[in-house]
Formats: sequence, structure tokens, C-alpha cells
Amino acid sequence: MIKRIVILGGGTAGWMAAAQMAKSWAGKGIEVTVIDSSAIGTVGVGEGSTPNMVQFLAELGVAESDWMSACNATYKNGITFRNWSSVPGYASYFHPFYSDFDTEVEARFCCNTRLRRNGVAVEAHPDRFFMTGELARRRLSPKARVAMTQSTNYSYHFDATLFGQFLKRKALGFGARHMDARVEQVLLNARGEIGSLLLAGGEQIIADLFVDCSGFRSLLMRQALKVPYQSFADHLLNDAAVTLATPMDRGDIPSETVSTALKHGWAWRIPLVSRFGNGYVYSSAHSSAEQAEEELRGHLGIGVDAEVKVNHLKMELGRLQQNWVKNCVAIGLAQGFVEPLEATALHFVGKSVLDFIDAFEQADFTDRFRAIYNDRTASAFDRIRDYILLHYRSNSRSDSDYWRDARDAGSSSDSLRRIIACWMRGGDLEQEVAEQDIGKYYSATSWHCLLAGVGVLPERTRCRTPRPEEQVIDLALRRRQIEQSAALFKTHRESLGV
Ligand SMILES: Cc1cc2nc3c(=O)[nH]c(=O)nc-3n(C[C@H](O)[C@H](O)[C@H](O)COP(=O)(O)OP(=O)(O)OC[C@H]3O[C@@H](n4cnc5c(N)ncnc54)[C@H](O)[C@@H]3O)c2cc1C
Repeated sequence: MIKRIVILGGGTAGWMAAAQMAKSWAGKGIEVTVIDSSAIGTVGVGEGSTPNMVQFLAELGVAESDWMSACNATYKNGITFRNWSSVPGYASYFHPFYSDFDTEVEARFCCNTRLRRNGVAVEAHPDRFFMTGELARRRLSPKARVAMTQSTNYSYHFDATLFGQFLKRKALGFGARHMDARVEQVLLNARGEIGSLLLAGGEQIIADLFVDCSGFRSLLMRQALKVPYQSFADHLLNDAAVTLATPMDRGDIPSETVSTALKHGWAWRIPLVSRFGNGYVYSSAHSSAEQAEEELRGHLGIGVDAEVKVNHLKMELGRLQQNWVKNCVAIGLAQGFVEPLEATALHFVGKSVLDFIDAFEQADFTDRFRAIYNDRTASAFDRIRDYILLHYRSNSRSDSDYWRDARDAGSSSDSLRRIIACWMRGGDLEQEVAEQDIGKYYSATSWHCLLAGVGVLPERTRCRTPRPEEQVIDLALRRRQIEQSAALFKTHRESLGV
């Protein structure tokens, strides 16, 4: 019987886990305690999310009106990728969260990219097809002014520190306990499980189940239980980041993340009510921290001597071989990290927490059950890594060694090789994604958006004129539909009430 659960770590992952667990098991005699160290602090980044966060907060019973203003949060319609491609006409594309307004169009977009890959001169840039891209371009929120049967998929940006504090209040409200203390030593019992945590003051904390949310340190899983770690460093070169905030625009607040490729990596721009969060993720083998900071400042138009608070971080990309070992499960950076490009880390935290609660409710703590959970989590990590990796594989920049190295780094998984081969031979990518059963990580449309968005397509001038039956979509009509639909949505500030 599991009665005492200790979560080591009070970063976003620790408090997301604590809030959801304390809510799920309130009144069931299960005690949830979070131990963290204010002296160590949290990673302090992680401000963009995916639609999965909408579901996670709904499961927690948290209303947008409650948490968004507390966390300076904004709405996110998707991500614009700038300068990832040097193909003329493909300098930028938008990776949308899909909406009901786009349902019919998704199939037509995929059909057009296939025709184009087979040498037919049809439009295949994703930005001409999807509605949420227009919401982002006009800085509109994903909330309509009028009641509608269709809805849009969306997510949020938020201040990571405030979000952690909000979740902490929720968790404590649901009955979780909190101790601010540094764990000095992890003691194993005779079965090789985690027995107890020895705190700096000498107190020993015993529990039946431990959740490792200790961030990149992975104190319980990697350090104490010696769970092997599979590095992604051969594939993904970025291992450092520099961050700084800039003031928010006076006009309307953007409703998208922007990811701009720079010389040795890429920079994010995340709009919050109070500020922009900016960061440059780069490869330390290609750029020093000083060069990266200078480049980020230049990108943002901030002089090298201007006084701003700058934060330099190191990051390790990879994943644990097993996420749940003996009486310990890892969640958050302690379980692994792909990189922030598609803001999937908190998506993964939310999913891991809900999956674990589900597994816990089944109370089947056998090795077979753990193995199923571990395999599922490892596959999710690897397939998300593949999608991120494809951004680098498909880049056509040649202005630095970094971009050439990033294109060729490591070998692709079988799954990714099949995706690329199918695209290049003009095959049915929707079918390929379905056959591999990987649409649950990234949909076929997302794979199409990425490859078509950076222009991995035959040049239009070299393609033949489409036959009438190949004109599957009237894009002038689609443009009018997008504009008419977008006009029904609130401005971002109106929606946020700021
Ligand atoms: C550059 C960068 C950008 C990112 N951007 C995004 C993004 O846009 N979207 C997204 O979803 N994710 C993003 N992430 C990932 C995201 O930041 C993390 O997934 C998220 O913050 C969760 O972190 P965590 O709670 O696992 O770890 P941390 O925030 O590092 O928390 C670790 C906790 O463990 C505690 N701890 C550690 N050791 C001890 C000890 N000995 N004793 C007591 N306590 C201890 C610390 O005090 C802290 O409370 C980004 C990450 C990086 C590096």
C-alpha cells in the first residue's frame, strides 16, 4: 500500500505533479510532500506550452480567469519559424494549432504538398491554408467574439516563476505538504530501492514512493539509482542557452511564439502580458557564451553595454532509459529533455503526470506494468526528438558550420528515415504516419507543415501546370474564408482584459 509520496523538486514539474496528485488522491489517505531547496532554485525557463496544457489545467479544475492573470499569461496560436530556410519564398512559416475551421483544409493541404512533390505546380506553403496563422498574424486571441460551434485549438505562454507559485498554492490547497530543505544524501534500502532522503538539517524522510523532479541533476534516478541515460547529443547539437527579457509592445500583444534561426542556433520570443521572454539556444561547440549573448543582443536591438539581466544556462539533451524504476518515477527535466524548439517539455510533464496517476490507480506495480509504462514514455521521447531533429535535417542554411553540422549530425532513427524517404519519393505521408502510429506525437499535418514550410519541394517553375482535377482547393476563396473567420475573434488584449 502506498501511503506516503515524496516529490523531490519544486520546479514547474514538481508542482504540476504535486497539484494533480494531491487533487486526485485527496481524502484517500495518501500524503503528498514536496521537498525543494530555495537555495538551489529552479531552472527558471519554460514559458511556452502546447494545447496539452489546456487539458492539464482543466483536469486540475483551474479556470483561465483564475490562473492567467496570476501568471501574466497570454494565448498561443502556434509558432512562427523564421529564417530556418534559405529557399526563396520559404523564409518563414507558421506551425499552427489546428482549429475546426481548418478540418477540411488539412486534407487539401496534404494533397497539394503531395502533388507538388510529384511535379505539379500547385501552392504548398502551409501559411496559405490554416486559419490560426491568420489569428497570430493579426495578434488575435483564439477566443471568438460570438458563440460558435467551431472551436480553435490553442495553448498559453506564461511566466515560469509565477506559474510555479500558482501551482504550489493549488497543490497546498489540495492538501500537499511542502518542506524547504536541501537533500544531502539519498539512502537506498536492502532491496536497492530509495529508502529515505537525508536532509541538510539531519532529518531523514521516508516514503513509499519517490518522484524525482530534481531537474537536470536527476538526483534520485541518475545519481542514486544509476539509471542509464541515453544522450541525444549526437543528433541535437544545442547544449546551452542565454536568456533576457525585453518590454512588451504598446499595441496589441502577439499571440504566437517566434523562433528565429540565428548563426549557431535559434532564438525564441515569447510574449507575456508584462514582457517578452527571449532566449538563444545554441551549440557551445560552435559559439562561446559571450558570442551568443552578443548575437542575441544584436538580434533584439540591445547594445552590448546596455544593462539588462542576462541568464546563461547549460542543458543536457537525452532521456532516461527507464522512467519508473523500483519505487521511483521521474518527471520533468529529471527524466530527460529534447530541447525547447516546439515547447514540448511541459507537455511531456503533464502527460507523464496524468499517465502515472492512471497507472497508479490501476495499482499494478509489477515489473511488466512498469516496463509497459517505460516503453511508452521512451517511444514518446524518441518520436518527439525525431520531429525536432527534422527541423535541423531539413534546414537549407549554409552560412555557418553550425547549420551544416546540425543537418548531418548523427544517424536518423528508422522511423525518421522512413518519413523523409516517403516525402522525397512523393509518397503518402499521412499513410506513413498512420502505419507507424506516430500521429499521437505529431500529426501528419504537422510533418507536412514542417517539410513544406521550409520548402523541401521541387521548384514551382520546374513543375507542370495542374490539370483541372488537380486544382483541389481555390486559394482565393480560402483566403476570403480565413479573413472572414478571423474577423470573428477578439483582439488579444480584449481577451486577456489588459
Ligand atoms: C533553455 C530552456 C528553455 C525551455 N523552454 C521551454 C518552453 O518554452 N516550454 C516548455 O515546455 N519547456 C521548456 N523548457 C523546459 C522547462 O523549463 C522544464 O521542463 C520545466 O521548467 C520543469 O523543470 P523541472 O521542474 O523539471 O526542473 P527545475 O526547474 O530545475 O526544478 C528542480 C527542482 O529540484 C530542486 N532540487 C534539486 N536538487 C535538490 C536538492 N539536492 N535538494 C532539494 N531540492 C533540490 C530545485 O530546488 C528545484 O525546485 C526549457 C528548458 C530550457 C533549459
